[in-house]
Amino acid sequence: MRLREKVAVVTGSSRGIGRAIALAFASEGAHVVVNYYKNEEKAREVVKKIEEIGRRALSIRADVSDYKQVEEMADRVISEFGRVDILVNNAGILIKGPLEETSPRDWERVVSINLNGVFFTMRAFGKRMLSGKGGSIINIASVAGYVPLVDAGAYSATKAAVIMLTKQAAVEWGPRGVRVNAICPGPVLTDLLLSEYTPKELEVRKKVTPATRLGDPEDIARLAVFLASDESRYITGEAYGIDGGLASSTYWILHKLLKKLSEETGCYEST
Ligand code: NAD
Repeated sequence: MRLREKVAVVTGSSRGIGRAIALAFASEGAHVVVNYYKNEEKAREVVKKIEEIGRRALSIRADVSDYKQVEEMADRVISEFGRVDILVNNAGILIKGPLEETSPRDWERVVSINLNGVFFTMRAFGKRMLSGKGGSIINIASVAGYVPLVDAGAYSATKAAVIMLTKQAAVEWGPRGVRVNAICPGPVLTDLLLSEYTPKELEVRKKVTPATRLGDPEDIARLAVFLASDESRYITGEAYGIDGGLASSTYWILHKLLKKLSEETGCYEST
């Protein structure tokens, strides 16, 4: 087991990618704090599953965009478990819309959860790791942090900022034993994706992904386990794409498009 007796906090882990990470950590021997925002019942179900695996688990309600609540959560974790070894900043939202139609309110909401929330939890738990035995912090960013997501400027901007915040903290905290890395998923089949894209749009996404499928939350959890464990002990300040090859496929997609156009119009040379 790669995370035996470690204490991990996973934000927004009542469902989706966070849930998969919480369960994978437990299977590798960690005790897990399941942070949630609204869905207490689902958080309890995750806690139950972790306990069935044989680890300790605790659900804590906290809005990551509220620093006071984050500090209270950190205090509670220390009083219940005595320390924190792993933090996964997973909580995040997507509000779509072209920039000129994005309301200042929506912009601020995305920034407050996706960026402020990551900073707040890094600050609160990072401080405690720095004064303890160090630790590993994993921020869930996105491919959108380096390739603009169509009609999702607020989201893309926050994810780019999270990648830089990751590198900043890695440099500042590395000498004191805290590693900080980011995971940048492509499309992963979760409620977030299902609420924003139609089944047809998701089918198209599969077709433009070299791996020919969407990501599974467990795909992301596997990388999170690696980054949380000592197997990655010399890795810090990195942002790992995990997208079935999507971000590298510009020319592959272009080639497909040109081929289709040439079949339809005869205007382009097909290779
Ligand atoms: P999801 O909507 O299923 O899960 C997000 C979780 O964050 C939910 O449990 C939600 O309640 C929680 N949350 C939202 N606001 C919160 C707040 N203020 N405080 C605490 N918790 C809060 O989505 P997901 O797909 O599992 O996404 C998880 C992370 O992965 C997000 O950061 C998302 O941006 C990122 N991501 C997802 C995809 C994808 O395709 N699904 C791709 C790239 C990155």
